[in-house]
Amino acid sequence: MQDPQTFTPQEFDMLESLRQEMGLTSIDEVMRALVRQAYHRTQILCPSCGGRARKTVAGKAECDECMSVLRLAEGTLVTITGRRAK
Ligand SMILES: [Zn+2]
Repeated sequence: MQDPQTFTPQEFDMLESLRQEMGLTSIDEVMRALVRQAYHRTQILCPSCGGRARKTVAGKAECDECMSVLRLAEGTLVTITGRRAK
């Protein structure tokens, strides 16, 4: 539980307007939504196989499952090299 007292008035105003925009009922829910968003930004799913990919260099990722090389373009993953044939 996040105590609203730990936010500055400016932060609280920002969270409050976010809360209204998101249609949530409490600041706690806003915090949880923000954490979830941050989490999803770091989680990369491979468009080729749906497996978990990991970031290599900025804007690029590599899938651990099918070895596809992925590129992040405007938040969307693009496969550069597909599943390698044996
Ligand atoms: Zn993959």
